[in-house]
Amino acid sequence: MTASLIPEPYRIKSVEPIRLLERGERCRRLAAAGYNTFLLRSDDVYIDLLTDSGTNAMTDRQWAALMMGDEAYAGSRSFERFAGAVSEVYGYPFVVPTHQGRGAENLLSKALITPGDTVPGNMYFTTTRVHQELAGARFEDVIVDEAHDPVSTAPFKGNVDLAKLAALVERVGAAKVPYVTVGCPVNLAGGQPVSLENLRAVAGFCRPRKIMVVIDGARAVENAFFISEREAACRGWSVRRILREMCASADTVCVSAKKDLYVNIGGFLATRDAALYEKAAELCVVYEGLHTYGGLAGRDLEAMAVGAVEMVQDEWIAHRVAQVRYLAARLEEAGIPFVRPVGGHGVFLDANAFLPHLGPEDLPAQALAAWIYEDCGVRGMERGVVSAGRDEEGRNRAVSLELVRLTLPRRVYTQTHLDFVADGVAKTWARRASLPGLRFAHEPKLLRFFQARFEPAPVPAGI
Ligand SMILES: *Cc1c(COP(=O)(O)O)cnc(C)c1O
Repeated sequence: MTASLIPEPYRIKSVEPIRLLERGERCRRLAAAGYNTFLLRSDDVYIDLLTDSGTNAMTDRQWAALMMGDEAYAGSRSFERFAGAVSEVYGYPFVVPTHQGRGAENLLSKALITPGDTVPGNMYFTTTRVHQELAGARFEDVIVDEAHDPVSTAPFKGNVDLAKLAALVERVGAAKVPYVTVGCPVNLAGGQPVSLENLRAVAGFCRPRKIMVVIDGARAVENAFFISEREAACRGWSVRRILREMCASADTVCVSAKKDLYVNIGGFLATRDAALYEKAAELCVVYEGLHTYGGLAGRDLEAMAVGAVEMVQDEWIAHRVAQVRYLAARLEEAGIPFVRPVGGHGVFLDANAFLPHLGPEDLPAQALAAWIYEDCGVRGMERGVVSAGRDEEGRNRAVSLELVRLTLPRRVYTQTHLDFVADGVAKTWARRASLPGLRFAHEPKLLRFFQARFEPAPVPAGI
């Protein structure tokens, strides 16, 4: 992998100052935050790679659109502009806005799940699974085996394993499987994409069995970009065309607009299924707000409408992926282990390979995220045993991937920032052999990774 970068397809019109605390101060702030990067104050972070969710920089066009927000309670023209843009780009006639992606997941789960159902998916996502479970379903992972192997370089490690899906449907019966969620790409596997061929095969299996195919489309544009690079049948296609084709093979998409759509808040459910739309719009009124604003201001809908158009312009997505690859190339030069192939939203450090002297009980990725912050003020996020939570019997779910995600917000950081991140992680790499794990000091029941507190584990004997 060589470090190369496409120059930014933008120039900077407004800046936000950031500052780097000195090391002793960082160590104190980290301890005060219970060693959980989610509990750090933003002001105590120098370069914030916690997430690319809602952390995007908007264009001048999006900022200008905010002023055009129609804040009418019902029937706002901002809704019409938003729904029109979403229908055009994703190709679905019915659109329900929600305050963010999990709002859409809640409507979908409540609308389609009957207690006792099973919902297959290509690796879980935290909020997606919790909504399925709260609605009375059980989640089952049907992703291909390569997804669990951080060093496999297969091009579509997000694909659904059709044999696993068929075996599951055979076992529980199609009537107990209301839908399949296909994450395109798979966030927790490192942003691994799904091929168009695989999506079509899933749809071909599901359609005669009356199982709905739902795309988790938080970063569907990144998935489309990888298809354009890796799937021979789609070579030369625009991401716009590929996104339409992806949605054409499915029935519904749930979107966190805080990702692809370059906004700070928002989400939606879009579908071709009139019956699902009716139910989701009804539930929207209960949980989000009237179905023409879904918990958002009219101005938010305007910013999403502009973002939906920008996201399918090839130069934006090409630059984004190039930035991620640049950071990966710099880390590779230092010999630092991360998940391959690199996805479109961040670099996922392999904490098991980084800290091989720690076991799962030491929460290696949680610890690594903490020690990286100490070393350089860069904030990443754990995606491993802490994020996976406990099963019905109260045991920690076993995970194959124990990762620290360094996620790149869109249009926010420069190449110099990325160099600083790579050099900072290299400092942690240099002292890796002496780094301890963490233990829970406080563990919330639901989505524990957000609010858990930790303390350093005793340093293992011999180091
Ligand atoms: C962010 C995300 C969600 C949830 O969206 P929110 O806007 O955070 O509620 C769902 N699925 C995936 C893959 C995501 O990355």
